[in-house]
Amino acid sequence: MRPDALNPLFAETETLDGVGPKLKKPLDRLGLTRVRDLVYHFPERFVTRRAVGTIDEAGEGEQIVVKLLVIEHRGGRNPRAPYRVLAQDSVGNVLSLTYFGRASYTAKKQLPVGENRWVAGKLERYGDMMQIVHPDHVLEEGGDTLQRLCEPVYRLAEGLTQPKVAGLVEQALARTPELPEWCETGQVEREGWPAWREALRRAHGGEDAAARDRLAYDELLANALALMLVRADNRQRKGQPLRGDGSLRDRLALPFPLTGAQTRSIAEIEGDLVQDTPMLRLLQGDVGAGKTVVALAGMLIAVEAGAQAALLAPTEILARQHYESLRRLAEPTGARVALLTGRDKGRARESTLMGLLDGSIDIVIGTHAIFQDKVGYRNLAMVVIDEQHRFGVGQRLMLASKGRTAPHVLAMTATPIPRTLTLAQYGELDVSKLDELPPGRQAIETRVVSLSRLDEVAAGVERHLTSGQQAYWVCPMVRENENDDTAAAEARYASLKERFGDDVVLVHGQLAPDMKDAAMECFARGEAKLLVATTVIEVGVDVPNATLMVIEQAERFGLAQLHQLRGRVGRGSEKSTCLLLRGDQLSETARDRLALMRETQDGFRLAEEDLRLRGGGELLGTRQSGDTAFQIADLDQITRLLPVAHDDARLLMERDGGLEGKRGAAARVLLYLFERDFGVKTLRGG
Ligand code: ADP
Ligand code: MG
Repeated sequence: MRPDALNPLFAETETLDGVGPKLKKPLDRLGLTRVRDLVYHFPERFVTRRAVGTIDEAGEGEQIVVKLLVIEHRGGRNPRAPYRVLAQDSVGNVLSLTYFGRASYTAKKQLPVGENRWVAGKLERYGDMMQIVHPDHVLEEGGDTLQRLCEPVYRLAEGLTQPKVAGLVEQALARTPELPEWCETGQVEREGWPAWREALRRAHGGEDAAARDRLAYDELLANALALMLVRADNRQRKGQPLRGDGSLRDRLALPFPLTGAQTRSIAEIEGDLVQDTPMLRLLQGDVGAGKTVVALAGMLIAVEAGAQAALLAPTEILARQHYESLRRLAEPTGARVALLTGRDKGRARESTLMGLLDGSIDIVIGTHAIFQDKVGYRNLAMVVIDEQHRFGVGQRLMLASKGRTAPHVLAMTATPIPRTLTLAQYGELDVSKLDELPPGRQAIETRVVSLSRLDEVAAGVERHLTSGQQAYWVCPMVRENENDDTAAAEARYASLKERFGDDVVLVHGQLAPDMKDAAMECFARGEAKLLVATTVIEVGVDVPNATLMVIEQAERFGLAQLHQLRGRVGRGSEKSTCLLLRGDQLSETARDRLALMRETQDGFRLAEEDLRLRGGGELLGTRQSGDTAFQIADLDQITRLLPVAHDDARLLMERDGGLEGKRGAAARVLLYLFERDFGVKTLRGG
């Protein structure tokens, strides 16, 4: 039972003033379905504005607040030209307030000629005129302009504006109850942390390290505690010992010898599988290290032992790719491999479901559709999870509810996860490392090129394609919202298509699934030479003949993500190149990060650097969607585990100090808050 105090936080967003069906959609798209989600929807950054008397005092590109007299409205006849409102500051400098599309209606209302207004926005130059495009605020004199000098910038979806989201967050904060403290008083005082509710409020109000630290700590604590509950529970569960006789593995006809690291990892997995405690092993190997073959060997052991195995992929595209390559590899062994995704319908789906139930399918590859309630197995004893970091903890554990015994789990990740993070995400698990790349791989030449040299880049791509090799072109991540990413990709695709015709295909997240597959397959078969994409190709795509990667506005991507993207090339024996196209204005950190990309291909180093640059607050990034039905473990158990969880959380925060207090009841509230109690026995269908 959820503590009553939390009820206001778990109310639907529709219970907030001003939220109807129209606003609910974009909120849902951002995963903001409940009041709690809004409270935890932290600003991506803050804009700090400077109040200036005249625009002479401000620099180009600066965020300002200035009082202006409206002198003239221009436009309205040509719908494609921007709508301009001319206004002047106190010394007569004229600037344009510029509006595109429907925003001009607002301008007409907000800016009557002859009146003074406070205007907030970014000052830019347009030709020889200064302008502010789509001012953030237009307020009448005597308004509360000065209070808005520091303002949060939230992630948006289409249909939302900054003031809308800010207003909803404010309402959500007003409904946030004071909760009992789960941290020890001494710790809170020592760190100078605000209480939970206060920390939330401050985290929305401006840069506030103490508040963010505290909230990060809470999340780590919830996670550490939940993992302990899971582990405590796991110790009581039995796995099914799987002893393979090698009969299937012997028949594998791999076109290459395994690397030492692969052989060692397979042996480690084999050692785990014969135990009657369920395996929980992370297979960590940089992109291209050859994790797939290791997973296959593991799954074949399960099949040799008369059981079934499943491989869970994070996306449809990847599930298909894995299916194709695993089916081909497994062919000579006689193991029967099937694909099951949410998109399979009708007879084909029925037949797969039957096969899983009667055991005529040995290995199933799919998206999380393979763990839905309706999917039954004859004897599922091993699960491989690809690109683990894409899955929430809840999802990972849901699969534990599938068998009479807990399945053996092998999690594979290409993003090298720093040790502190593996601890936070998985607790105690065993790790196999593929620290040796298959022979013959060459370093990927990485270059940073200005976007202004786009023509040369395109010419380079053309030469590359003419030589018979393939290339990726990754479009900028626009960040404001997903639709903008799509628009950028569409635009780039259109211009590249003029040059390359049918050799180009496009993939982005909003394409119809079968169009996406068709494009990917066309590229994988080599019929298309250039794949233009948003970041959907980030993980796992394997086309060895693609040896050139262009990444536009590389400065907008995180290091780990760039590393993942770059890992799409350099998979064959040909020399590969990665071009990082950068915009004109680079911050110093952005410059450093791109330089680091050029310098190293060591995923570990990049991941750690990435973590450092992003800061601890985003440490986990695995907030649960909340649809997991769960019960809360009993208070005694929490109270017993809490001190250790604190130790773990503190370790993760890299801080020292002792803790004696037991605050089990408060911690129970915390677990609810993060929906982080997923003792395995309590999961749906378990
Ligand atoms: P990842 O670890 O990124 O998932 P994959 O399993 O997709 O890597 O393997 C990358 C490529 O390397 C594939 O084309 C695969 O066939 C090949 N490969 C895997 N193991 C070896 C090996 N021991 N020797 C040569 N090539 C290998
Ligand atoms: Mg892979």
